[in-house]
Amino acid sequence: IWTAAQEKLRAMLNGDTFNLWFAPLRPQAIHGDCIVLEVANDFCEVWLKDNYIGLLQEVLTITSKRPLQVKFVVATQTASTTPAGLDIPEKVKVVEATAPERSSGEAAFNPKNTFETFVVGGNNNFAHAAAQAVAQAPGKSYNPLFLYGGVGLGKTHLLHAIGHHVLSHKKGARVAYVSSEKFTNEYIDAIQNNQIAKFRKKYRQTDVLLIDDIQFLAGKERIQEEFFHTFNALHEAHKQIVLTCDRPASEIQNLEHRLVSRFEWGLVTDLQPPDIETRMAILRKKAASMGVELPEDILNFLANRIRANIRRLEGALIRVASYASLTGKKLTIEVVEGLLREVLHEEGRYSINIETIQKKVAEHFDIRLADMTSKRRPENIAFPRQIAMFLSRQLTEGSLNSIGEAFGGRDHGTVLHACRLVKDRMEVDPSVRQVVSYLEKQLLR
Ligand code: ADP
Ligand code: MG
Repeated sequence: IWTAAQEKLRAMLNGDTFNLWFAPLRPQAIHGDCIVLEVANDFCEVWLKDNYIGLLQEVLTITSKRPLQVKFVVATQTASTTPAGLDIPEKVKVVEATAPERSSGEAAFNPKNTFETFVVGGNNNFAHAAAQAVAQAPGKSYNPLFLYGGVGLGKTHLLHAIGHHVLSHKKGARVAYVSSEKFTNEYIDAIQNNQIAKFRKKYRQTDVLLIDDIQFLAGKERIQEEFFHTFNALHEAHKQIVLTCDRPASEIQNLEHRLVSRFEWGLVTDLQPPDIETRMAILRKKAASMGVELPEDILNFLANRIRANIRRLEGALIRVASYASLTGKKLTIEVVEGLLREVLHEEGRYSINIETIQKKVAEHFDIRLADMTSKRRPENIAFPRQIAMFLSRQLTEGSLNSIGEAFGGRDHGTVLHACRLVKDRMEVDPSVRQVVSYLEKQLLR
């Protein structure tokens, strides 16, 4: 299977990409619906997961004619030798402050994440401009720069872009990129191995410290203390600090006040979900860089349906594009819907609100919308209402309480009861099952 899949990949990808990332993979085992591939090091693992997991899965599934999951294991050789055939390109090599023995992964900037590949739209132009300003004059403009926003909106991308820019424009600059989780783990290791001095040197003697996903510091007092001093040392020396977070610093619970206030010293800016034009622009740019051409209606469909997360949008594009090039079949909206069923379902959760569900259900059962919130209890009204509650639970992020609230101020117990009841009836009564799944499909459209 693997040899056949490799041939397909070779045909699809440009030679360098294939030789760099796919030629060195070794199949280890197939257990059930899972294939285990050996990679040279964790950097390769991360890179493949970030960029090619969709494609790999797709190709393997098509080759083996059944769904296959991909798992990676890292080869157990001495980590310092680069395995044959795997020269990591110079520009993604780990750049590290002072310690010459580096562990792979950190500060390895993803060569895809540059300012050039970042699509600027109304949702992110401010964050983009701030990141550029910082990259051009580290330590001299906004310090710290604090970027926040939801998952998959480009925070890490911008951090990497800053890293690339500084490294390519300032010879000898020391740039460290680390997630706050990794920072924490390194700190713990350093304590255990009596290497605190080395740890401090590493992070306090950089010119640019890029620290990702700061929300993971929440509730960790000792690491907050350590980070506080790191921050001060760098800031006093006019070294650039850039932080990202999934929310504003003041909304992180159990984060020391003195850190929150420092994070707000410089510039705080957010990344919002992209609007439709930006989503289209991102799709066009990514498709072009993958060397694929997709019909306009398919791009439109993707941009319209996947809104909340650019990583998802990208994943969907890869999936659709690889399917098209592997099977040579013409892409239709139906095919794309089939390929992306799960993603679209997930996305649906964000765009459906309780009111839409109430309307749809009321319409279907031919009752008044007002009955969704009324106290009337005849079965022909109560049951549709319970179905609407059940669907609200399934298809929105609403809590039991907020759903109850939306159904005329009912309490969470009532909602829970309704959900259980509908579920039970679905199990014993195929017609209930049918109607619920019909409504769900309609709503997810
Ligand atoms: P976050 O760190 O905010 O969760 P990432 O930076 O990892 O998100 O972005 C997720 C994916 O979306 C990455 O592959 C990234 O390259 C891509 N991406 C995000 N924003 C943009 C953008 N404005 N233009 C192009 N690609 C983007
Ligand atoms: Mg990130």
